[in-house]
Amino acid sequence: MINSILTLFRVRGDDPTLAVAQKAALSKQIPLMYFILLVNTWGVAITHMHVAPAFLTIAVPTLMTVVCSMRLLQWWYRAGRTETDPTRAIADLRRTNRIAWVLAAVFATWGVALAPYGDSFMQSHVAFYMGITVIGCIFCLTHLLSAAIAVTLVVNIVFIAYFGMTGNDIFIAMAVDVGLVSLAMLMVLWVQYRDFTNLIVSRRELEMKKNALEKRELDLIEEQKQTQALSDENKKLANVDSLTSLANRRFFFGKLDEAIAASQAQDDPIHVGIIDLDGFKPVNDAYGHRIGDELLVQLAFRLSHICRGKALVARLGGDEFAFLLLAKNHAAAQELAEEICEACREPFSIANIIVQIGASVGIASSDLCDDAANHLYEHADFALYQAKRDAPGTAVAFSDEHHRSLSRVMIIEQALRDRSIDRDIALNFQPIFDIQQQSVTAFEALARWQHPVLGFVSPAEFIPAAERLGYINHLSRLLLTKALHEAQTWPDNIRLSFNLSARDLSSSEHAMRLLAIIGNSGITPTRIDLEITETAILTDLMRAQTVAQAFISAGVGVSLDDFGTGYSSLTHLHSMPLTKIKIDRSFVTGIDRDPASAKIVKSLIRMADDLNLECIIEGVETAGEMDQVRELGGRFVQGYHISKPLGAADARKLVLATGQSNHAAAR
Ligand code: C2E
Ligand code: MG
Ligand code: MG
Repeated sequence: MINSILTLFRVRGDDPTLAVAQKAALSKQIPLMYFILLVNTWGVAITHMHVAPAFLTIAVPTLMTVVCSMRLLQWWYRAGRTETDPTRAIADLRRTNRIAWVLAAVFATWGVALAPYGDSFMQSHVAFYMGITVIGCIFCLTHLLSAAIAVTLVVNIVFIAYFGMTGNDIFIAMAVDVGLVSLAMLMVLWVQYRDFTNLIVSRRELEMKKNALEKRELDLIEEQKQTQALSDENKKLANVDSLTSLANRRFFFGKLDEAIAASQAQDDPIHVGIIDLDGFKPVNDAYGHRIGDELLVQLAFRLSHICRGKALVARLGGDEFAFLLLAKNHAAAQELAEEICEACREPFSIANIIVQIGASVGIASSDLCDDAANHLYEHADFALYQAKRDAPGTAVAFSDEHHRSLSRVMIIEQALRDRSIDRDIALNFQPIFDIQQQSVTAFEALARWQHPVLGFVSPAEFIPAAERLGYINHLSRLLLTKALHEAQTWPDNIRLSFNLSARDLSSSEHAMRLLAIIGNSGITPTRIDLEITETAILTDLMRAQTVAQAFISAGVGVSLDDFGTGYSSLTHLHSMPLTKIKIDRSFVTGIDRDPASAKIVKSLIRMADDLNLECIIEGVETAGEMDQVRELGGRFVQGYHISKPLGAADARKLVLATGQSNHAAAR
C-alpha cells in the first residue's frame, strides 16, 4: 500500500519509450508553465510593493525569476531537439520531479508570507494567485503525474493550512474549493496520464510489430537472394560440362531449339557441326583416363579458341563435341569445321607425352535442306557417320544424297519397328558346289526383303539396322525357322548353311533358342552349318567360343564366313571351335589373272586342310576363276559362276531335277 502510494511520487524508470515520449511532451508545456508562474508572481509582487518589505516583493520574486527563466530556457532549448536517449530522458524527468517539490514549496510559502501584509482584497489576490497558479501548473504537468501530484499536494497543504486557519468563512470556503478542484483535476489528470501511457505502450507494440515485420521482410528478401544465388549456381552447373567447362549437352540442345525457333521466324540459316574424335579411345586405353581427360580439356581449349565470337561450342559427352553457328551460308560452317579438323590433328603434349588424334565432323545446315531445321542434329550425325566411314579426319556436310539414304534408313527402321518386315521377308538359297563330287552339297540361306515402297532391300542394309534396333535375334529365329522348313523338302544329303549375326552369339540364351528351333525342326543337326563372322568373334571371344562349342556339341557345323576380310588373327582361328572356313570373295576376284591372289588362296586352302577344316571358296564368278580354284586344290565353291541365289522353289527344283549330281545341271 505504502509502496503503491510512493510510486505515485516517483518517475517510472522501467519504460524507456514512455520516458522519451514524456520528455517530448513536457518540453512543449513546461516553458509555458514557467511563463504562467512568473506572470502570476509578478502580478502579486507588484500589487504588494507598497505594503510588503522589498525582500518579499523584489528580492524573492527576482531570484525566482532568475531560477525559473533558466529552467524555462533550458526546456525551451530542449523542445527544439528530439530526445532519443531514454537514460537522459529519465534523468531529466527525475530532476523535474525533484524541482517541482522545491518550487511548489518556495512559491506557496512566498504567497502566504505576503498575505499578512495586505488588506482583504490583497489577501484574496494572494488566494486567487495560489489557486490559479496550482491549476495552471497541474495542466502543464499532465505528462509527469508525479510532479503534478507533488505541486498539488504542497500548494494545497500550505494554502488550506494558512487560509483555513484565518477563521474567515470566505477564505475557508476558498481553501475547501481549491482543495476539491485540485483533487478533481488530479483525477482528470490521472485518467489522461493513463491514456497517454497506454497510447505510448500500444504505439511501441505497434512499432515492434512493424519492426518485426520489416525484419521478416528483410530476412525473406535475403533468403530470396540466397535462393536465387543458389539456383543461378545450379543453373550454371546444370549447363556446363564439369570436365572441360564448355557448355554441356543440355545447354547445347536448349540453344539449338531456340535457334531453330528464331531461324524459322526470321528465315536465317543455322548450322550444326558434330565433332567426333578419331583415335581417342586408344589414347585412353594406352595412357589411362587421366591423360584422356587432360586431352579432352586441351582439345576443348582449342575448340573454344576457334569458335570464340563465332559459334557456340559444347561437349555432348565422351569424345563428342558440337558447334552451333549462325551464318548466312553453309560455306562458313564448312570452313569452321575444316579449321577444327586441322586443329585436332596438331599433336597434344600431356605430361611429357605427345599424343596425336584426329577429328571427323558432320555438318548440317538449315539452308541446304527444306525440312532440315527440325532434324539438324540427326542430319549432322548422319553426315558424321559418313565422314567416319568414308573419310575419317575430314568434315562432311549433309547433302541431298545423304538425305535420300537417311530417308531410306528411316523407312527401313520403321518397318523393323512395326514388324511389317516379318510379312515380306523371304529366303533365297545359293548352292555350294563340291568340285570333287561334281554336285551341289549345300545351300546357303540368304535373306531377301521386298519392301512395298523401297522395293528390294539388301541384307547389307537391313541386317545392321535390325542389329541397331535390337531386332536381329527375333529375325534370326524367324529366318532359321523358314530355312529349316525349306530344307525339309531337300534330299537328306543336302546341307543348309545359315548366317548368324554377331548378336546371336552375344548370349547363351539366344544360342540355346536357335538350337531348340533346329531340334524341333525334325532335321538332323549334322545337316546344318551356322555361319559366323570375324566381327562376332572379336566382339566377345570367350562367349563366341562357348556358343560355337555348344553348337558343335549339338552336332551343328560352325563356319567362319568372309575369312580374311576382318581383323581376326590366326590365333583366333586356332582357338575358335570351327568346322569350316569360307574364303572371302575379295581373294577370288581375278584370281586367274593375279598370281598373288592365287598364292594366298592356295595357302589358305592348305592351312584349312592342316587345321582339319573344310574350306569353301566364295564369289567364284567366272569359268577362269573356277578353273584356277580347282587347280589350287579347292573343293567347295560358291558364286555366280555356279548359281546366283535362287528362290526357294528354284532351289528345290535344282536339287530334285539334277539328282544333285552334275555341275552342268547346277549351272
Ligand atoms: P555372305 O554370308 O558372305 O553371303 C554371300 C553374299 O555374296 C550374298 O550377298 C551373295 O548374294 C553374294 N554372292 C554370292 N556369290 C557371289 C558372286 O559370285 N559375286 C558377287 N558379287 N556376290 C556374290 P547378299 O545376299 O547380299 O548378302 C550379303 C550379306 O548379308 C551376307 O554375306 C551375310 O553376311 C548377310 N546376310 C544375308 N542373309 C542373312 C541372314 O539371313 N542373316 C544374317 N545374319 N545375315 C545375312
Ligand atoms: Mg554367309
Ligand atoms: Mg561370305
